[in-house]
Amino acid sequence: MKIAVLVKQVPATEKVKMDEKTGTMIRSGMEAEANPLDMYAVEEAVRVKEKLGEDTEITVISMGPPMAIDAIKDALSMGCDRGYLVSDSALAGADTLATAYTLSKTIQKLGGFDLIFTGERATDGETGQVGPSVGAQLDMPVLTYVSKIEELNGTHIRVRRAIEGGYEVVEAPLPSLISVVKEINEPRIPNLKGKIRAKRADIPTLTAKELELDTSRIGLEGSPTRVVKIFYPKLSRQTKIVSGKDPELAVEELLKFLEEKELI
Ligand SMILES: Cc1cc2nc3c(=O)[nH]c(=O)nc-3n(C[C@H](O)[C@H](O)[C@H](O)COP(=O)(O)OP(=O)(O)OC[C@H]3O[C@@H](n4cnc5c(N)ncnc54)[C@H](O)[C@@H]3O)c2cc1C
Repeated sequence: MKIAVLVKQVPATEKVKMDEKTGTMIRSGMEAEANPLDMYAVEEAVRVKEKLGEDTEITVISMGPPMAIDAIKDALSMGCDRGYLVSDSALAGADTLATAYTLSKTIQKLGGFDLIFTGERATDGETGQVGPSVGAQLDMPVLTYVSKIEELNGTHIRVRRAIEGGYEVVEAPLPSLISVVKEINEPRIPNLKGKIRAKRADIPTLTAKELELDTSRIGLEGSPTRVVKIFYPKLSRQTKIVSGKDPELAVEELLKFLEEKELI
């Protein structure tokens, strides 16, 4: 079975800086890590391989700047077989549609896969759109919020999906794309052998030209999303100190204040 896992590199901080003029994230000088939610997808793919045997191959694909190779290496150290980085200045400024187009063309160029894993969402963009959009562009079933693979054979997959208030069990023919939630497993900590293998791995970089991408569908030009305005929320705190010397008066004063603010 041929498996692909899509892994995104994200800033390793919650203090993301935005360029208020262009509406894009300032990524230079920022520490980065593999999207933590993608590690559940990697772990599940490796577990499938361990179950199905050596005939199963796992390919990790990431689109991003050259340093995104580290995210691919993290996945390789957990047991994936090979990785490809999709990197080209022509891809800069891509929104979720252009990103999904690029990733789906990469998947086709690599010969297609029986099963594609993605994380639930990336911790920076957080749209959760890329996985389903890749599936749609490849015209294959998309199973989102998967919390358990119940059955997988050469032709079908049956999964448990986490939905509001419970679960649902759905089945789809292969090839399919699944996005997984945290509940599905506990990602392993890579061992030394895995780390050495990942360090030595040759990870080819694919460019827009090599992938024969339609230039009108990539990067900023191919991105219909427009960031109209971006701003930091202004925090204003009002403090009211109520003296407790006269408790009755203090309660009265507090009630009046809450009423004025329409909080009670
Ligand atoms: C106008 C505009 C300009 C932008 N410019 C840039 C830019 O220059 N550089 C930039 O990095 N981002 C840019 N972005 C953000 C970019 O669109 C998103 O980072 C990207 O499309 C992924 O969306 P997301 O983070 O919401 O991922 P989600 O949809 O939340 O991710 C879901 C899953 O899809 C997979 N996935 C998502 N992205 C990738 C990827 N790149 N490679 C492999 N797997 C992936 C992962 O498995 C992930 O868990 C821009 C956005 C807009 C609107």
